[in-house]
Amino acid sequence: FYRPTDKGAVLQGRRDHFGGNLSLTYDDPVMLVRGWRHHLFDEWGRPYLDAYNNVPHVGHAHPRIRAVAADQLGRMNSNTRYLHPAQTAFAEKLLSKLPDHLQVCFFVNSGTEANELALRLARAHTGVRGMVTPDHGYHGNTTGAIDISAYKFNKPGGPGQPDWVELVEVADDYRGSFRRDDPERARKFADLVDPAIAALEEKGHGVAGFIAETFPSVGGQIIPPKGYLPAVYEKIRAAGGICIADEVQTGLGRLGEYYFGFEHQGALPDIVVLGKPIGNGHPLGVLVTTREIADSFARGPEFFSTFGGSTLSCRIGDEVLDIVDDEGLQDNARLMGNRLIEGLRRIESDFACVGDVRGMGLFLGVELVNSDGSEGTEICGYVKNRMRDHRILIGSEGPRDNILKIRPPLTIEAEDVDMILWALRDVLAEVGDKAPAPVCDHGHHHHHGCGCC
Ligand code: PMP
Repeated sequence: FYRPTDKGAVLQGRRDHFGGNLSLTYDDPVMLVRGWRHHLFDEWGRPYLDAYNNVPHVGHAHPRIRAVAADQLGRMNSNTRYLHPAQTAFAEKLLSKLPDHLQVCFFVNSGTEANELALRLARAHTGVRGMVTPDHGYHGNTTGAIDISAYKFNKPGGPGQPDWVELVEVADDYRGSFRRDDPERARKFADLVDPAIAALEEKGHGVAGFIAETFPSVGGQIIPPKGYLPAVYEKIRAAGGICIADEVQTGLGRLGEYYFGFEHQGALPDIVVLGKPIGNGHPLGVLVTTREIADSFARGPEFFSTFGGSTLSCRIGDEVLDIVDDEGLQDNARLMGNRLIEGLRRIESDFACVGDVRGMGLFLGVELVNSDGSEGTEICGYVKNRMRDHRILIGSEGPRDNILKIRPPLTIEAEDVDMILWALRDVLAEVGDKAPAPVCDHGHHHHHGCGCC
């Protein structure tokens, strides 16, 4: 085992034994060994404010999660071919948070698996295979999930776009084709689905469905204009397809105002996909759908996942939902999100390199721009790394990696929000005189963490 203080040895072990295309965050990576609520601690016990991680939804090292896991592991942990009240209890609690037409749960082990399953359900129900999805989307790391993730299949060395997938422009009303000054922008973005549907039909693939992150995250923390999704869903359904909402990033109260992102849009999906926060770090994904779609799928071979819906997973998922309610975390996300966004808007008006501030609750993006308004990729890398020097963990996102991503656990408090805002002000004040980040032979920025530079 490595000495806990020897970060260099851990870094070397990783270079020796891990794949090179697993990136590491920050020029000076952090080693984190303890956590508590929205705080993390490194090998020297130094604290970091976690303003990035959405997986520890109810906070790191939550005592109720630890207690329920210890209790269940001390009893038994088995699969869904045996009866256990924890499985139906979890399903019922989750369904109580969702619209009435969603009645059936499938438990799996990750967001990827839930999206992979969503593809199978869409095909089983419609009998065809074509999919429409917004550009720059991400739905997971398996062959099937990559096929519907433009963020991956279009990268150099990626598998490319499948013939049965049609991309539509993401509904980004800051940088996209239709901007915020256009009151018709939701409809205009939705209309882009028409030629995509026509193309799938012409190629003989038909329309199995539409899949989108309700608020695109890797696409750049985008809040589509209200009414976008219902308009898209109407077109997809008219073409015989089903509508899948990937709520991995947006679900379970993060948005403050809404428990799920589709509520903001006034849309009713046929399938909702949940991941990351639902297990608070324990691997758990859930697909929720209608009885009709589940019945179509049930006409095929048995669906079974060894670990999906294990007794332990169901007890943890159930506990996460209770903690969100018991601790008023959705409300906290709304209050702290408002405090953050108000502070960020003041920063936006003080710094020319802040082009846009957007978000809802604790799902926020700060788009950094160069003096000509183009994507401020270098600035973003610099700011992210300097925030890390201030021991505040935030991320970056977007097709050109120029959008700061702020997405803390829902436990964050007012003084933490103010700390983020003050540190960001200090760092942005440095931006004027910084040199561009160095680039290696492969064109990677130093902070890419590829190990080649
Ligand atoms: N969908 C979205 C929107 C995601 O952000 C992610 C993970 N970043 C996934 C799916 C895949 O989830 P997992 O990594 O748990 O398989």
